[in-house]
Amino acid sequence: MKPAWKIETQAIQGGYDPKPGDPRVVTICQSTTFKYDNAEHVTRLFDLEEPGFFYTRLGNPTTDAFEQKLAMMEGGVGALATSAGQAATTLAIFNICQAGQHFVTASTLYGGTYNLFACTFPKMGIEVTFVDPEASADEILAAFRPNTKALFAETIGNPGLNVLDFAKFSSIAKEKGVPLVIDSTFATPYLCRPFEHGANVVIHSATKYIDGLATSVGGIIVDGGNFDWGNGRFPELTEPDESYHGLQYVKAFGNLAYIVKARVQLMRDLGSVPSPFNSFLFTQGLQTLPLRMQRHSDNALALAQFLEGHPAVSWVKYPGLKSHASHDRALKYLPLGCSGVLTFGIKGGTEAGKKFMEACRLVALVVHVGDARSCVLHPASTTHRQLTPEQQAASGVTADLIRLSVGIEHIDDLIADVDQALATSQK
Ligand code: PLP
Repeated sequence: MKPAWKIETQAIQGGYDPKPGDPRVVTICQSTTFKYDNAEHVTRLFDLEEPGFFYTRLGNPTTDAFEQKLAMMEGGVGALATSAGQAATTLAIFNICQAGQHFVTASTLYGGTYNLFACTFPKMGIEVTFVDPEASADEILAAFRPNTKALFAETIGNPGLNVLDFAKFSSIAKEKGVPLVIDSTFATPYLCRPFEHGANVVIHSATKYIDGLATSVGGIIVDGGNFDWGNGRFPELTEPDESYHGLQYVKAFGNLAYIVKARVQLMRDLGSVPSPFNSFLFTQGLQTLPLRMQRHSDNALALAQFLEGHPAVSWVKYPGLKSHASHDRALKYLPLGCSGVLTFGIKGGTEAGKKFMEACRLVALVVHVGDARSCVLHPASTTHRQLTPEQQAASGVTADLIRLSVGIEHIDDLIADVDQALATSQK
């Protein structure tokens, strides 16, 4: 780790330190396994007595380079890459919350995460309470139970675009002795620094801005190394792990306990590992992340300002706009920009929205955000379709809501395309 580097330098140089004669670029180590000369060496690797690769489900040099670069950029102590953002969320919670236990989450979530928490976790015996992130601290505290193990939220809610009140959420988590787990997919480590605002674990869907070019599905968990797992509430990290011949994670690994356990216990057993090729693409993507995030943010702000004055638009939500309810918080937690996603209400409702999306020529109708290419979506009929109307409302989705993921094309071309599509939508 070289914390003195700025994030732009970490993005380019971090995570891979080639020795004389090594390839300049991180290589794709497309190998399931690794060769050794003596059994004793392999035993030491299995016993975690020395670092090294022995099977790609548990670690791979290309994936390791991705994990190290992202951990450095986020300011964490370690990271674990996963096969999808959904796997990152699942493992991040499952690492500390089991059947018969409970966690609290902000309700303003990506639809897939909402489903995971509302439907699948309860089937596994894990109970979840959804809270309005704008509720008072006392109201949120009231959702906690003796068996509550985590507090979860997104930095920028998808698609409500509410910026999290980190001060409130981190003080609640501290008071209750549980980690604050943050999905910072929309913000990325360039725009928001969750560990500096009290988060303990950060997850990303790498599929979005980290990849940046819409080539690969993946996720990552980053450990801030700043939570006291020995506070008596997390015996799975302090008591012997019988599945690992009595390993005690905190005792053996100190402030890396959480992320080591996620790897050697959960990744070992659940196997949601990324392919080395995808890890290579994420490593490539990270190198331009700061440049892209600045351009995404600048374009989105300009487009939001354009839409705010447009006669076919009834409302615009973008945290960078003064009119947005989270604007002050955006200035505090997202000082460089508010990322590339904005939403707006189109006059004429769902029908006009359909016409608008079909009339866009440059902006493509795609189920995605975070691509360098601009894209558009109607969440109520797609990403949040499986939710009930009440759940949709709780996640900030309304029938007239159009979500734009603003890319890094020239802003003049984007405004021209959106303008002509809005004109068509009103005919
Ligand atoms: N978190 C957020 C905020 C997302 O937008 C998404 C996907 O859109 C996910 C998590 C899930 O990530 P993935 O699609 O990589 O599984």
